[in-house]
Amino acid sequence: MEVKDLSLAEIHSSILVCPDCPLSQSRTKAVPGEGHEKARIMFIGEAPGWHEDQSGRPFVGQAGHFLDELLDMVHIKREEVFITNIIKCRPPGNRDPLPNEVEACYKYLKRQIELIQPQVIVTLGRHSMAHFLPRESIGKIHGTWRWVDSHLCFAMYHPAAALHQQSLRRVIQEDILKLPQALAAAQKAVPEPEQPKQLSFL
Ligand code: URA
Repeated sequence: MEVKDLSLAEIHSSILVCPDCPLSQSRTKAVPGEGHEKARIMFIGEAPGWHEDQSGRPFVGQAGHFLDELLDMVHIKREEVFITNIIKCRPPGNRDPLPNEVEACYKYLKRQIELIQPQVIVTLGRHSMAHFLPRESIGKIHGTWRWVDSHLCFAMYHPAAALHQQSLRRVIQEDILKLPQALAAAQKAVPEPEQPKQLSFL
């Protein structure tokens, strides 16, 4: 079956054994992503790091701990959102993903978004942002949102940026506080599916 026809669980299984790019040779575990299958918010990072490669789970290292803190700040539970990455396997030495790796992996992300239908996509870092908003610069648009097709994309610095550059910690914390506003904007623009009407003669 083609990826475009797979369920979320089937995508997950395919990613675990995916041979489609050279990262399949160097990975310990592929990291498909995790979270609520009808999440209103989807966080998309760049690529698994060492801890993620070892555990098979996204954002479980230091950057992940900071992401957990950020979620706490806006009273959102990790189980309520979906967390994944642009590419699902760790590039050796945590180098930037190569275009052929991003291209080979894109089908999985595309299908994940199609199935989950998040109201807001939070891009973590410039690589993730560039995927949705190729002409923007993270320094300019962090903490703001734009419509891309039917999704509202909210751009943030990568949580790991705060680990390397202490001054960004406060910026990232201030940005996440705007996420509820972005979600409200998305909900206002996309009406809930209409409830079946009660028939008056029943
Ligand atoms: N950085 C990412 O972009 N993704 C992870 O899952 C972990 C660290």
